[in-house]
Amino acid sequence: MRWGLIGASRIASSYVIDAIRAQAGSEIQSVLSSDEARGQAYAQDHQIPDSYTDLDALLADDSVDAVYISTTNEKHHPQAMAAIAAGKHVLCEKPLAMTLGEAVEMVRAAADKDVTFATNHHLRNAGSHLAIRDLIASGRIGKVLSARVFHAVNLPEHLRGWRINDASAGGGVIPDITVHDADTVRFHLAEDPVDVVAKAGVSGMGEGVEDSVMSVWSMPSGVMVQSHESFTHGYAGTGVEFHGTEGSIFARNVMTQEPVGEIRLVDASGESQVPYETHNLYHRAIGLFAGAAAGKGAPSADGVDGVKSLAVALAVREAARSGQATHVDYGGL
Ligand code: NDP
Repeated sequence: MRWGLIGASRIASSYVIDAIRAQAGSEIQSVLSSDEARGQAYAQDHQIPDSYTDLDALLADDSVDAVYISTTNEKHHPQAMAAIAAGKHVLCEKPLAMTLGEAVEMVRAAADKDVTFATNHHLRNAGSHLAIRDLIASGRIGKVLSARVFHAVNLPEHLRGWRINDASAGGGVIPDITVHDADTVRFHLAEDPVDVVAKAGVSGMGEGVEDSVMSVWSMPSGVMVQSHESFTHGYAGTGVEFHGTEGSIFARNVMTQEPVGEIRLVDASGESQVPYETHNLYHRAIGLFAGAAAGKGAPSADGVDGVKSLAVALAVREAARSGQATHVDYGGL
């Protein structure tokens, strides 16, 4: 599979270029940047043959089968729509789009064109999360009663920029992190939040966008989910907990890009550590995407998953704005 990168981004250089090259038979042909000099330097640094500033020119290369979109969030929709129209398979970064309608349009366009379209929700690829999901699905903690996600981090200096000061580029902790937590909880519980209440605010970093949010989600089964995301917490650590009638799962430091963290299971027989696979999250995501594009299996998070995580995040933002319980609108998907 030959790839074009849409966006000369950090996430591509830190994780995704390596993950593409880790797949047998995969190579990167081109990169798109809005800045010619940055694009050329990026291509040179990463040994990518072609660099473009014109999306149509990148898409006109028939040797490119798939694109990975990792520009700032407001560009995902127009770039994905163009790539789909050109018949490319698309792996798009989260959040899929700025609005629910745009995200739904991307998913429908990909289905009409019969190309693979997926969302890069990396967390559900982690061995830790796969192990947690298996514990829940096998009934190990009985009927799940509640869940807690804590994903309050100190956003590193080099990642600040548009994330903390540019609402028009999709900045704010809700589109950045709440989408991941929504996807992770949906993955574990295999159900979609119905409505949410939330409070959001600025705690030292956001300039015109929220940098902290707490929310509570109601699930169709009756499970209550409590979620906390922030850019300003240096020492909180991340994690997720699931509490059931027969036991509780406590996972620490698992809301991360690395295959790390600790999972403890507590039940009537006592407390035990849960083992899990420590493969690279992004290698798995790209491998499943490439397989799906070749007609084998499904991507780890597809377009509908991306629409649904965005839908929850948008509902959280609206609930925080209005102070009202807000129904989650999944746009008919
Ligand atoms: P970056 O800020 O690194 O890149 C976004 C855009 O900013 C690039 O497309 C590039 O524009 C421009 N840019 C990059 N470096 C510079 C620079 N030095 N000077 C000026 N402009 C620059 O963003 P991230 O890589 O952090 O995030 C990109 C997307 O990926 C977002 O949608 C984000 O939500 C998502 N993401 C997902 C993660 C995951 O694990 N799933 C993790 C991190 C991010 P151009 O292409 O025009 O050159």
